[in-house]
Amino acid sequence: MTMITHPRRWFGLFCLLVAALSVAGCSATAAPSTAIVAAEAAATATSHPRPPVVVATGLPPTALPAEATAQPTATDLPAATPPPSPTASTTPSPTPNRDILCSSRIPDNGLLTVVTLTYGLSRDYEPAGLVGLSGYLPHDVTLGYPTELRRVAVTPLVAMITDMQAAGLQPMILSGYRSYSAQAIARQKWLEKEPDRANILSAPAGFSEHQLGTVVDFGSPELAEIVGQEDIEFHTWFYKTSEGRWLLDNAYKYGFTLSYPFEAFDITGFFYEPWHYRYVGVAMATQLHEEGISLTEHQLATEPPPCIPDSP
Ligand SMILES: [Zn+2]
Repeated sequence: MTMITHPRRWFGLFCLLVAALSVAGCSATAAPSTAIVAAEAAATATSHPRPPVVVATGLPPTALPAEATAQPTATDLPAATPPPSPTASTTPSPTPNRDILCSSRIPDNGLLTVVTLTYGLSRDYEPAGLVGLSGYLPHDVTLGYPTELRRVAVTPLVAMITDMQAAGLQPMILSGYRSYSAQAIARQKWLEKEPDRANILSAPAGFSEHQLGTVVDFGSPELAEIVGQEDIEFHTWFYKTSEGRWLLDNAYKYGFTLSYPFEAFDITGFFYEPWHYRYVGVAMATQLHEEGISLTEHQLATEPPPCIPDSP
C-alpha cells in the first residue's frame, strides 16, 4: 500500500500532527506525558512504508535518544507454565442482527465484529470463553496482571510470544480483555484527570475493541529508553522498538492485525496505536496485511453497518 495517496489519509496525517495522540481504544494507564505534538514521515526498519516519527511532549528532537537498532539480548526467561492446550472455539456464527441500536448490540462469537466510536457494543455484552493468560505465558510477559483473553486467541498468542522470545525479543502484554465496566472506570479516570483530552485518551465504555476479548496491547522494555522516560507505556514510539517492528512484520502470520494503523484515523475513529493487535485468524490477517488496510476499513467496505448508532 502506498502511503497517504487519498485525501482522507492526508486528513489522518493532519489529525496526527495537531492532536495529542494516545490511547483512545487501549490504555487504562497511559501517561499524559506521552502526548504527541509533532509527526514527520520517516522510514523504519520494517517493510512497511508508513510509520511516522513522532516527538514526545517536552522532549525536543535534538534531546531524544537515537532510534534503537540493537536487538535485545535474550534473558533468562522463566519457563512458561505448561499450557493447558486451549481448543479453538468453532461455534458457528449466526447472522448478526443489524437492525438494533448499537447500545443493544450483542455480537456473535465471530472474530470480525466491527467496533468503532460509532458502532459500539451493549453494556451487557461479555465474550464467551475468556481464560486467564497467566496460566499460558511466563510471568514476565504478563507482568503478573490477571489479563484475560478469549480462548480462540490464546494458542496463537502463545505461539507468537514463543517465537518472539526465540528471536531474542522481550514482548510484554499490557492489556487484554476489558469489560464494559472496566472501560467505564478507565474512562472516568481520564475525564477527571484530563477532561479536555479524555476523548483521545480513552474510549467511552462500549466502544473499545478490548471488550471483544481478542485484543492484546503489547509493550517493550526498549520503549522507556527510546522515549527517555521511565515506566512509559502506550507510546506511539512503540513502533520503533524491536518488538513493535517484529509485530508489524509478523503478527499477521499468527492471525493478529493492527487495529489502528497510522493512516486510518478517520475510518476507525482512533489515533495510531502501534501496540494494539487484534486476533482475526490467519486468513483475514494475511489478507489485511497484503492489502495494507485495517479490519474496520475492510468490514465497513464489504458489510452493511453492524448496528444503528444511538442518538448523541
Ligand atoms: Zn488496546
